[in-house]
Amino acid sequence: MKQRITVLGATGSIGQQTLDVVARHPERYEIFALTASSSWESLAGQCLATGARFAVLVDEAAADQLRNHLRAAGSDTEVLGGVEALSFVAAHDQADTVVAAIVGAAGVRPTLAAVKAAKRVLLANKEALVVTGALFMDAVRDSGATLLPLDSEHNAIFQCLPVEGVNAGVERLLLTASGGPFREFGPEQLQAVTPAQAVKHPNWDMGPKISVDSATLMNKGLEFIEACWLFDVPPERIEVVVHPESVVHSMVAYRDGSVLAQMGTPDMRTPIACGLSWPERVESGAQRLDFSRLAGLHFELPDTDRFPCLGLARAAMETGGTATAVLNAANEEAVAAFLAGELDFMGIPAVVEQTLTRQSAPACSDVDDVMNIDRQARELACRLIKERGC
Ligand code: NAD
Ligand code: MG
Repeated sequence: MKQRITVLGATGSIGQQTLDVVARHPERYEIFALTASSSWESLAGQCLATGARFAVLVDEAAADQLRNHLRAAGSDTEVLGGVEALSFVAAHDQADTVVAAIVGAAGVRPTLAAVKAAKRVLLANKEALVVTGALFMDAVRDSGATLLPLDSEHNAIFQCLPVEGVNAGVERLLLTASGGPFREFGPEQLQAVTPAQAVKHPNWDMGPKISVDSATLMNKGLEFIEACWLFDVPPERIEVVVHPESVVHSMVAYRDGSVLAQMGTPDMRTPIACGLSWPERVESGAQRLDFSRLAGLHFELPDTDRFPCLGLARAAMETGGTATAVLNAANEEAVAAFLAGELDFMGIPAVVEQTLTRQSAPACSDVDDVMNIDRQARELACRLIKERGC
């Protein structure tokens, strides 16, 4: 039986790379459903190439355009419009695997729908876990879903952990960070960073939001929170290490002094292939690591004075409740404002910090309540962005 796959966020960087890996193994995988926000032309090409059973666009007008286009092309793909349809294809009983690759908190409900339907869930959408935390992990335990991390660092840790779990002799998790494009910038240079500079990552080719997060180190902050939940490890047992070459994707340190690292060229198709085929291994298309051409591997500690987002994320995790949902909501609004030219680069940590200080963040056991805090935090962050200006 082929594994039938729903890709949430199919037109993005992770979505496209997932389809690349899937296309290498037509005997193992078939695409069940593809989703996107509004980019119907990209989704049309993907539907025609894969023969997907369902295509979903959140934007209803774009869904109409896709439907007309596919009908004219003689395609059998059924097109659905609207936000509810994301959860429908994520939880559909004919889908085995769901690749969660929507960006931001928009992925919370469809990813949770896949978890609750006990799917094999390949998680790229770290924000979904950062926003819902314990609620998400409880749903994984209750449903018996298989959760496999696609984020390269978490996939690396997953590969280096003992099969018995994180308590079998593991001392610390070492999360590596490239340091982003501005690793060596001083405070004045950071103040002047433009969106065009921030979306250009030195090692990885990613969507605009995660590229900005990598530049502020908020991406590492979100990943720190993600690692606490995924591996059930307290904040004090996770360390962030800056490693500019992005060859070591993360490490696990054991009680006896051993450190296991997962290495490879920086290519997301490796963790994607790992998640799709686990516990087997399949070809991913990634270039092999050539040790004879490695100029060296460097490691240093992160500078949380120049890059406050990492410290803010750690503090939000330690605060608990819905503080990490508030952090994420403020960050999403601040990054969107920065990309639109309405906020300066150092305004991102400033807005996140002020939102965390002013927004209440009670513990919530219901996703609707969490999303209500998310909405309040966004409203506050937007007011703070307007006050600050650019
Ligand atoms: P992207 O911006 O390239 O793609 C995002 C996808 O989500 C697109 O298909 C888009 O149509 C869809 N989308 C956007 N807003 C939506 C909404 N409101 N409702 C429904 N769908 C929506 O993003 P990306 O770089 O592929 O990242 C996706 C996720 O994977 C993020 O959470 C990111 O942090 C994570 N991730 C990405 C990489 C990478 O290399 N790109 C690595 C690790 C983790
Ligand atoms: Mg990562």
